[in-house]
Amino acid sequence: MIDIRDVRKTYYMGDIELEVLKGVSIKVEKGEFVSIIGPSGSGKSTLMNILGCLDLPTKGEYYLDGKEISTYDENALANIRNEKIGFIFQKFNLLPKLNAFENVELPLIYRGVKLKERKSRVEEALNSVGLFDRMHHRPMELSGGQQQRVAIARALVGDPSVLLADEPTGNLDTKSGSEVLKIIDNLHNQEKTILVITHDIEVAERAWMQITIRDGLIQDRKVN
Ligand code: ADP
Ligand code: MG
Repeated sequence: MIDIRDVRKTYYMGDIELEVLKGVSIKVEKGEFVSIIGPSGSGKSTLMNILGCLDLPTKGEYYLDGKEISTYDENALANIRNEKIGFIFQKFNLLPKLNAFENVELPLIYRGVKLKERKSRVEEALNSVGLFDRMHHRPMELSGGQQQRVAIARALVGDPSVLLADEPTGNLDTKSGSEVLKIIDNLHNQEKTILVITHDIEVAERAWMQITIRDGLIQDRKVN
């Protein structure tokens, strides 16, 4: 499903070059739950952005569902992203002026799904994260944990092949964090392919395989 080979990423800022990923290879099969752990600044988010087709590697190959996409242009990449990837971010990234329903509906509007089908899919997604009765609330009117659950519903509503989560519990208290993790565990039981990026060892250990990244290189792979 996901197969990256010797991926490197260099950021160029004027005269300064910063090589953040120094040759990373990862394979994730359908239905696997993989965590990527490592200290702050080790390149985790950079890797997630590449895996999620938000950014391209400077060097290396990326096969997603068998297609080599590291040479795609911005348009083609955006299409792949919309079709195949669901994202969850540390800061939720919900649109503040839209209510929960409208936030979850966005990816379906983007894909041209008709109103009636949108309504039933959004309601189902919100129901699956326990927020059916909060659909008319805006993010401000929800707790952090509830906002993250809306974000999960938004990530899932388009039935992506892969769910990518970058520090999904990073902004949450212990209780809301464990609710979010329970939802992720459930998704894994439903055979979703999941990649969680975290610096929290407890979160990482829930995954089937744990990959440690340090200073832009994979240091360790361990099956839990
Ligand atoms: P992590 O998520 O593990 O904390 P990041 O991938 O966010 O690490 O960052 C790794 C390194 O790359 C850091 O030194 C960071 O400052 C740098 N970096 C991240 N994004 C950019 C960017 N867009 N431009 C320049 N440097 C960046
Ligand atoms: Mg990060």
